[in-house]
Amino acid sequence: MSKSIKLFLNGEFVESKGSNTIPVTNPATQEVLAHVPCATHEEMVAAVEGAKEAFKTWREVPVPERARLMMRYQALLKEHHDELATILAEESGKTFEDAKGDVWRGIEVVEQAANVPALMMGETAENVARGIDTYSYIQPLGVCAGITPFNFPAMIPLWMFPMAIACGNTFILKPSEQNPLTPTRLAELFVEAGAPKGVLQVVHGAKKQVDHLLHDPAIQAISFVGSVPVGQYIYRTGTENLKRVQAFAGAKNHSVIMPDANKQTVINNLVGASVGAAGQRCMAISVAVFVGKSKEWIDDLAVELAKVKPGVWTDKDAAYGPLVSQQAKQRVIDMIAKGKEEGAECLVDGTNCTVEGYPEGNWVGPTLFNNVTTEMSIYQEEIFGPVLCAMSVETLEEALAIVNANQYGNGTSIFTANGAAARKYQHEVEVGQVGINIPIPVPLPFFSFTGWKNSFFGDLHAYGKQAIRFYSETKTITARWPESEIDNGPNMTIKMQ
Ligand code: NAD
Repeated sequence: MSKSIKLFLNGEFVESKGSNTIPVTNPATQEVLAHVPCATHEEMVAAVEGAKEAFKTWREVPVPERARLMMRYQALLKEHHDELATILAEESGKTFEDAKGDVWRGIEVVEQAANVPALMMGETAENVARGIDTYSYIQPLGVCAGITPFNFPAMIPLWMFPMAIACGNTFILKPSEQNPLTPTRLAELFVEAGAPKGVLQVVHGAKKQVDHLLHDPAIQAISFVGSVPVGQYIYRTGTENLKRVQAFAGAKNHSVIMPDANKQTVINNLVGASVGAAGQRCMAISVAVFVGKSKEWIDDLAVELAKVKPGVWTDKDAAYGPLVSQQAKQRVIDMIAKGKEEGAECLVDGTNCTVEGYPEGNWVGPTLFNNVTTEMSIYQEEIFGPVLCAMSVETLEEALAIVNANQYGNGTSIFTANGAAARKYQHEVEVGQVGINIPIPVPLPFFSFTGWKNSFFGDLHAYGKQAIRFYSETKTITARWPESEIDNGPNMTIKMQ
């Protein structure tokens, strides 16, 4: 029997009083795993009020104690790594190993959050004027909120609330309604780690609940990860309501293949980076730009891609899982049909993919298009499926021009044995995360996740030092402590000495 997911309000897991629910399905079987409630207006108010109240005491908790909460949380997440990966694999369809990776990348952010005492140190300068010192403190903002997508149900919530809470804020998380079971377990473990009541609240639902967060004046900052139209809406509405907003959005990531690269390395990397996780990664490689003679490798790439078999998460041999929903599968199938109509050459076609024993699964096989042009819809739109578009050019300059003209700027990579070509690419490419002989260059959490252009709306990025700045304010103090009273009468100018 499917369970009903609870809201996490003021330290208690409670049944929602709302009557609207959304089914959470196993994408390999369509079995309903749970029903996620849509929080009522009163429940949204309770979450915000509870977070406001908790902020009063949480901001006073010494920063090493806040760091210790993160250390205990990290240890618990590691202890429950397999259990979390199992929940995640079942609701998302990811293979078990990939689900473990999703959890692991989140654990690494919690480790970074445990460094908060050093990261929250301000600046000082002595004698900025005679007998006057200036120093700055980093202080929390208040109540922050996060809205997360389906595709990384552990990693992306963990990009947000540990960093925000370590800074002394309280946090309201609205996870994806498609994969809410993993974030719920993350909240339970946070309580077990000793998180005080009200510091983290978890509300469920969709647009209506997000709109509440966007309009509630108590919320100071909003972190969002998801699609471009929703990201733009959240950035516009949140900033219109005078909130700080960071919105991470969709992508079309190119890999540029130079003819001096190692052929087998290129093929292996392109296969994994394009169809791994069924292509449902914002950093998946969805376009391969072959420069010069490297285009001769496309046929061998097709042979290798055709060998890749999706399957259910319990199958150790499965390379990737099903698409998240029947609608997502249909969208990808329609995009493949459109690619054929628009004249791209479909070398590997994943349209009619089946997996034995799982006739209801949202399967799409690996798909490779060749001779793709920049006018085609399969090039312009994010497909978010196991589909790779190949195109060929003669020079690195032409490849750079294609990548730089694209509306997205999340990630890119170049495969080459030539340092000068790599240097030129890293310098000139207008994309925020660049891999050199590394297909998916997701930075570790002591750096930040720095997508550009339509892949990101905002200024300060996720995790690393930028997250500390996003979730905090700087207070600058200028102080004079004279050894004896000075009385020079009123000072009518801005001179300070
Ligand atoms: P989505 O935009 O459909 O949903 C994301 C969140 O927004 C969910 O919590 C959802 O409930 C909420 N939402 C949906 N419609 C809304 C609306 N009209 N108003 C307010 N809130 C709304 O995204 P998704 O399908 O869950 O995730 C896939 C997308 O996320 C892809 O485009 C992918 O590239 C992107 N993504 C980006 C990054 C990044 O770092 N740039 C990382 C992961 C995923």
